[in-house]
Amino acid sequence: MLKEQLRKNLDKVIWNIEQARVSLSEHHIVKLVAVGKYSDEENIKILYSLGQRAFGENQVQQLESRTKSLEELPLEWHMMGTLQSNKINKLIELRPTLFQSLDSLKLAQALNQRLEHKNQTMSCLLQINSAKEESKSGVSIEEAEDIYAEITESCPQIKLKGLMSIGAHSENKKEIQKSFETTYNIYDKLNKSYKANICSMGMSNDYELAIQCGSNLVRIGSKIFK
Ligand SMILES: *Cc1c(COP(=O)(O)O)cnc(C)c1O
Repeated sequence: MLKEQLRKNLDKVIWNIEQARVSLSEHHIVKLVAVGKYSDEENIKILYSLGQRAFGENQVQQLESRTKSLEELPLEWHMMGTLQSNKINKLIELRPTLFQSLDSLKLAQALNQRLEHKNQTMSCLLQINSAKEESKSGVSIEEAEDIYAEITESCPQIKLKGLMSIGAHSENKKEIQKSFETTYNIYDKLNKSYKANICSMGMSNDYELAIQCGSNLVRIGSKIFK
């Protein structure tokens, strides 16, 4: 992809984020994580040269090859895909900045045990299935607060920083909005009781709406790389 095209895409996304966040509050800061799964390392390097520092992947294997080949760049890496239990050790080895898709208590306990063994900690977000969709992973809305508390109390190697959610898969803006509002309401409670400070919601097709609903981290792939 041409550098000029990537610059244009990135500028547009940054501009839209800016509009959305200022409409909420000038003090509302939003982080952009560029999701590279549709793209390649060359394009990630170009984005780096344009100032982007945070990148995300949804597969451990891809995360591994990219963190290794782009090792010389001061990037932060976010993992945001379903983690199979046989990939836990690999993920720990890669020391991601943030593991955004911790999606069950069982996975948390398994991850905690391996982290303990390696004397490491990992910053994570609890993924919630805010639109109650079969096709998506994540804990249910009803259980989210209890599971968050349980992980905080029983998994000392896991540093929970907040929530991640994928907006409802729908053409209906109201439904998408509702899924974001539901996530934000839970986040707001966790912010007060557990100092959670990351509410990760919003992708290429819905990030402005997500920000208006309180998101402070958006994960954008296709609008940047396609
Ligand atoms: C792929 C992916 C994204 C980015 O998706 P786009 O719609 O291309 O912006 C964000 N979050 C997760 C969890 C993803 O897997």
